[in-house]
Parts: sequence; C-alpha cells; structure tokens
Amino acid sequence: MKVTFFGAAGEVTGSAYLLETPRARLLVDFGLHQGEPEAEEHNVFPPRVEPDRLDAVLLTHAHIDHSGRLPMLAAAGYRGPIFTTPATRDLCEILLKDAAFLQSADAARAIAYRKPGEPAPKPLFDETDVELAMRLFRPVRYEEGTEVAPGITARWVDAGHILGAASIEVTVEDAGRTIVLGFSGDIGPTHQPIIRDPTPLRRADVLFLESTYGDRDHRTREATIAELESILEDCRGCKGKILIPSFAVGRTQDLIFEMGRMYRDGRLKDIPVYIDSPMAIEATELYRQHCDLFDGETREMIRSGRAPLNFPTLRFSRTGEESKRLNDMQGPVIIIAGSGMANGGRIVHHFKHNLDKPTTRVIFVGYQSQGTLGRRLVDGASMVRIHGQEVAVKATIHTLGGFSAHAGQSELVAWAMKVQPKPKRLILTHGEPKARDALRAVLRERWGVDGERPVLGETYEL
Ligand SMILES: [Zn+2]
Repeated sequence: MKVTFFGAAGEVTGSAYLLETPRARLLVDFGLHQGEPEAEEHNVFPPRVEPDRLDAVLLTHAHIDHSGRLPMLAAAGYRGPIFTTPATRDLCEILLKDAAFLQSADAARAIAYRKPGEPAPKPLFDETDVELAMRLFRPVRYEEGTEVAPGITARWVDAGHILGAASIEVTVEDAGRTIVLGFSGDIGPTHQPIIRDPTPLRRADVLFLESTYGDRDHRTREATIAELESILEDCRGCKGKILIPSFAVGRTQDLIFEMGRMYRDGRLKDIPVYIDSPMAIEATELYRQHCDLFDGETREMIRSGRAPLNFPTLRFSRTGEESKRLNDMQGPVIIIAGSGMANGGRIVHHFKHNLDKPTTRVIFVGYQSQGTLGRRLVDGASMVRIHGQEVAVKATIHTLGGFSAHAGQSELVAWAMKVQPKPKRLILTHGEPKARDALRAVLRERWGVDGERPVLGETYEL
C-alpha cells in the first residue's frame, strides 16, 4: 500500500493524498493550491491520479484548499463517488461555484492584458465542471462506517473546524491484515462557538496530522471578544463605519453569533450590523439548516427560543443596490463583507469610499496573506491603490487574533495524543516548514513519536 502527496506537503494549501492498495485507488481531498507563488504551476492535474482508475474520493471539508480540484477531476472524466458529509456537500456547492466565477473573471482579465502572440489563459474549471462534480457527491453520516471501495471502509468524525468538517479514519483490509489510516483534515479549536469540538480518532496506525498552527497558540476567545467590545465601545456615538472583512463560511457565522450575544447582553444595541455578501448570507442560511450539527450550548439556545444566528439589528444586504445604499449611511454601523483578505468582493468598495476618513475603523479577524490589500493595510500602508485609484489610509486598523477556525499547537497536540495506542507512523502535513518542525519537536518530546515530513509529489510505502 502506498500514499502520494499532491499538496499540503510543507505548505498549508492543496491538500490531496492518493492512496493505492492492491485492490483500490482513492483520493483523500483534492484541494487547490492558493496564495503561494508556485500555486499556478502546482494546480495542474497530476497525471498519476488517473481518474478512470480511481475508485473513490473521500472529502474532509468544503474549504477550497481541500475541495478545489474536484471540478478538474470531474472534467478529466472521473465519474466515481465523492463521499462526504451532507453539510460539506452543501457548502461545496456555494464555494466551488464562487471559485469557478473567480477563475473565469481572472482568465478574462488575463486575456485583456496579454501581449500579442501569447496564448489565451484558460480558467482551471468553470461552472459546468462544478455541476459535473456536484452530481458525484454521496452523503455519509458522522461516526458510521461506510464502505467506500473494495476492502476499504471509512468513518467521518467531527473535526470542529467549519460546519460539516471531518477527520477520516480509513480502514484497509488486505490479505488478512487490517491497517487504519487516520486523516486529521483541519482540526478546529476547542470551544469554538456554534459547532461541536473536535472528536478524537479511535485508532490510527498511520496518522496524517495537519500542522497549520503547529508553532503557536492563539489568543483566547475571551480576550478577543473583550477587545472587540472595547473597539465598538469607542465607536459609540461616532459617525464612522466599522468595516470587517470576513470569510463567508465560518468566520461570518462566528461573528454573527458573538454579536448576537453582545446584543442580548445589551452591549450592541445602538449599532446595526449589515452582512453585505450574498455568499455569506447563503452560507448562514446553510448553517441554520444544519442546526443538528451545532454544539450543546447552541442547541440549548434554540430550544429556549433564542436564534443563535439572528438578532433584531442584524440586516442582510443581498443585491448590489442594497450594498450601494450603505455608502450613504451615517455611522456608527458595522459592515461585514467579503472577501476575508480584501482581495476582491464588496469590502473593496467600502474601503474605497471610507479608508480616507479618520472616523472609519477596519477590523481584521483572519489571517492576511502576502500580496493582498488586507495585508498592506495590516502592515500599515498610508496609501493603497483600489480600482486604479490612490486612496489615503486615514482609518484606524485593528487586528483581532482569536477568531481562528484552526486548533493552536496545544490543541493539536492534545487531539493527536488521544490516539491510543500510539500510531506506528506519524506524518505531518498541511503546515509551513516552521510550524511543522515546531509541532514535530513538541510531539517527539511529549509523545515520543517522530513525525515524518513528506515533500510535494513524494510517495510513501505504508
Ligand atoms: Zn479548512
């Protein structure tokens, strides 16, 4: 049996494992490389995958860096099943369609700027490929074993990362021997609101462990909320806008939940909150539909008649017209809009109209990659270029660290160490070298297990 790494090996994106046993071939995740300079060349379709010889795809969760190459797989002729939880399927539909739209827009822009004689760039996939892929999804239930290929059963357990996210235990029977492979997927932090905490795996002879935040712990949730409250307290009575760039899935619902709590406690009464993103609105709707996946506290709220993802001063602006109307609005008002790193989406328009006003507050609640408008603002730029126009930055910029959907180092270690007996092999993936090395050192010291560090394209015999 062997496994080949087609991404997330020494980097945080492009998660993709090809598992080959004597009787079956399957993929665990097939995500896009994002952000890094080599992303473009790494996002080719690896011929080794051989779609017509593939038995199944097992998907941990909907984020594009785990699901984004599935439309390419369908376009290349794959017609087998893609097994995942129903919530992940639903979120994939939103996220993959959006990715296809962005791909086409990028390609169109590249065509417009190409030099004479240069070949016309093509999007990696389009909406038709997404539709093809969506037809292949097969729902699985958490905790239940599902036969996914000859001699292989898989079991999804809640990873507490975003709605529907899972770690997967893959049990391979081969010539009288049973070997269990554990794929962590992305592990969420403990006590994240709305969704449940991560579930440990029951068994893993070989454990594939993510290491995104393998080198640090996050600020606590309480400290983060206290900081958010003090920023909002400062804005009370002022006329400026409070702009929060946010990812549509996960982070936005998290903010709605926390702001709802603040509203009910009487600490947000006079500041309306606008969700200015059709995708975030759709994702929030999906969260509400999958309330069976909520944690005990959130389900208790629903039972006692309170809506965890709603409050009286929360408004949704769906259309472009509704979004434009926010321009003329007097503050204080909170506007939550995509994209999370301000490299596109409606937040860019709000920046264009408001960054030059000293009354404006910008609150970043997520990681800002190199090269994005968000990163330039976090780094303290006094002037930024938006839609070809120079805009002076007079707004106050804040960064809140505790809203991560990823476990910090201590939580990753605690999750891994619940796997008993200890895995025979520990394979560290989905982390930049510094984070992965730090996690490896801690696990060696505390658990006595030596983590292996595959590189992109490498094959391991198991
Ligand atoms: Zn993720």
